[in-house]
Amino acid sequence: MNIRLEWKRALVTGGSSGIGTAIVRALADAGAKVAFTYRSHPEAAEVLMETLRQEGREAISVEADVSDPTAVKAVFERMDLAWGGIDILINNAGMDGERALSWETDLPSWRKVFEVNLFGAFYCASEALKRMVPQKGGVVLGISSVHEEIAWSGYSAYAASKAALGMLTKTLAQEAAPHGVRVLGLAPGAIKTPINRSVWSDPKGLEDLLRKIPLNRLGEPEEIARLAVILVSDAASYLTGRTVFVDGGMTDYPDFAHGG
Ligand code: NAD
Repeated sequence: MNIRLEWKRALVTGGSSGIGTAIVRALADAGAKVAFTYRSHPEAAEVLMETLRQEGREAISVEADVSDPTAVKAVFERMDLAWGGIDILINNAGMDGERALSWETDLPSWRKVFEVNLFGAFYCASEALKRMVPQKGGVVLGISSVHEEIAWSGYSAYAASKAALGMLTKTLAQEAAPHGVRVLGLAPGAIKTPINRSVWSDPKGLEDLLRKIPLNRLGEPEEIARLAVILVSDAASYLTGRTVFVDGGMTDYPDFAHGG
């Protein structure tokens, strides 16, 4: 199957690093016009833009904090102006926050994780659906996490925000389905990116992590990006309201291979 997304207008939040960059590249390779947001490291955004330009792709980069609804609105208005709207939204921007047990964490840090992972995703989805519903087509894909399902000590805001993202996906899918718009989630397991560098760059941390992954390796951002392209394409035209887990078997709970 050769998936093509020519004429599709896509937006990827947090596109200048990790999984976001891989998704930007995969969408562009499939022929879509791709806008992406970045929050820090403008130089990384510029490198990605330059690569896309050299490949003859149509692309836009915008600096934006997704937890700021005014900034989010401006991103969509920029796409309206340039391309007349949007067909694909990838809510990828996210943060896990500092590790802290719930009785030790400070409220502003806890709240910030929610504001980015859940509120940010909602602001973007709401702006996207305002445009997709009247045009009777489009796909919203939220990059969730295995922690939508697996509890994670020290990261209660992260895990709870991703679980909430799962229900947001289901509810928005229910609202949008009669208008021909699909809403989906994609939940990665451990993917080698800057977000978890402290774990995979430490031999002990890596050993512990690999014990949790039946396929016995970290995933690559491209393995998430390939599936993202399939999910937003017509190859997945009958799929909505679900989060697809791409985790090397992590949610198969490998410890149970030894009894239970
Ligand atoms: P990353 O740190 O490389 O990327 C996160 C991106 O989000 C960055 O581009 C960052 O600038 C952006 N971002 C953070 N706060 C933002 C804000 N307020 N406004 C706008 N952008 C903001 O890490 P990644 O692994 O590529 O993460 C991408 C997504 O994948 C996240 O939602 C993360 O939760 C999810 N995820 C990652 C893994 C993994 O193992 N890497 C596993 C499960 C889920």
